[in-house]
Amino acid sequence: MKEELNLPVRLLMGPGPSDVHPSVLKAMATPLLGHLDPKFLELMNDTMDLLRMVFETKNDMTMSMPGTGSSGMETIFVNLLEPGDKAIVCVNGVFGGRMADVAERCGAEVVKVEAPWGEIIPPEKVKEAIDANKDAKVVAIVHAETSTGVMQPLEEISKLVKANGSLLLVDAVTSLGGAHVNVDKLGIDAVYSGTQKCLSIPPGLAPVSFSDRAVEVLDNRKKKVQSWYLDLTMIRNYWGGERAYHHTAPISMVYALREGLRLIEKEGLDNTVDRHFRNGRALQAGLQAMGMKLVVEKEEERLPMLTSVMIPEGVNDGEVRSKLLNQYDIEIGGGLGDLKGKAWRIGLMGHSCSEKNVMTVLAALENLLTEGGCKVDRGAGLKAAADYLK
Ligand SMILES: *Cc1c(COP(=O)(O)O)cnc(C)c1O
Repeated sequence: MKEELNLPVRLLMGPGPSDVHPSVLKAMATPLLGHLDPKFLELMNDTMDLLRMVFETKNDMTMSMPGTGSSGMETIFVNLLEPGDKAIVCVNGVFGGRMADVAERCGAEVVKVEAPWGEIIPPEKVKEAIDANKDAKVVAIVHAETSTGVMQPLEEISKLVKANGSLLLVDAVTSLGGAHVNVDKLGIDAVYSGTQKCLSIPPGLAPVSFSDRAVEVLDNRKKKVQSWYLDLTMIRNYWGGERAYHHTAPISMVYALREGLRLIEKEGLDNTVDRHFRNGRALQAGLQAMGMKLVVEKEEERLPMLTSVMIPEGVNDGEVRSKLLNQYDIEIGGGLGDLKGKAWRIGLMGHSCSEKNVMTVLAALENLLTEGGCKVDRGAGLKAAADYLK
């Protein structure tokens, strides 16, 4: 016979999932309603209102899809692209690369705009690609590239995309709830996110929002959406309209989403964003004061909720991360792609984003690096972080 679950309580400070807020866990333990129960439909309406608040949009088609962030990615591409369409996809990390892959699988002709990992996509390069591909139906870009720690400015790029009449598609998986996504102000046409990064909710849902223009494109498709499960022409009738059954909603996850978003409404979105910014910059100040180098060189291009930091010379990546986990119950992430074995990724997302956790991870790293023979000015990291937070 298997034993009852008895797991350690970890501090999740990697690139996601992040810690879940206790009141979200409590909401998830609420007994189920049926997915067509009028009370549940009300709860879906609340959730749509709250999603509009965090996305900063009035978009009617704003809801959550089943599945993790990647399901949101598939949703916007399968619904907006048809075979033969042209898609410009910006790639400066893992998730831009994944978008290009998904767009290709939709039968689109993909034009990549690339930039080195750790740098933003320069607007000039997007302009060049648009000038050479005026018929591009969409331009897709990642707002917060979790594989490198880069925050992509979107304003200038949005203007270029609008001027050409293409649709702007944005990955806001890591930015939503940790930074302003400003869907309406930036004129974003389709955006997706995930619950497990800055929303303090477990993985399992993908919030999405579509502008009226994107809905028009969806309405005028020549062919059926190639995915039955993610077909918004049907799913929209469950979240709005006649409330027709398509698939059974993941009820408990919708409870969780409503509660996670309610917590942001209660804190105030500006305050939530500010908390991420302050703690992120404090952690970065601390790491640098310990003598470590950040992957993203320009301060204004660094994400607050995810910091990539180079592993000091002579330090064993796996050993430090496993000690962090086993001695301190702290999870951080390793590097991806070219940064594998060379960088760590430290997240401060959602419920994990607190002053307490900034200090905890800095102290633990200081101990382990010193123990591993690395010369660290003891106390310098904690002091720099505390000074920043003063
Ligand atoms: C995590 C992440 C995804 C994928 O989300 P999953 O929940 O792992 O499917 C996509 N884009 C970005 C920027 C991410 O950080």
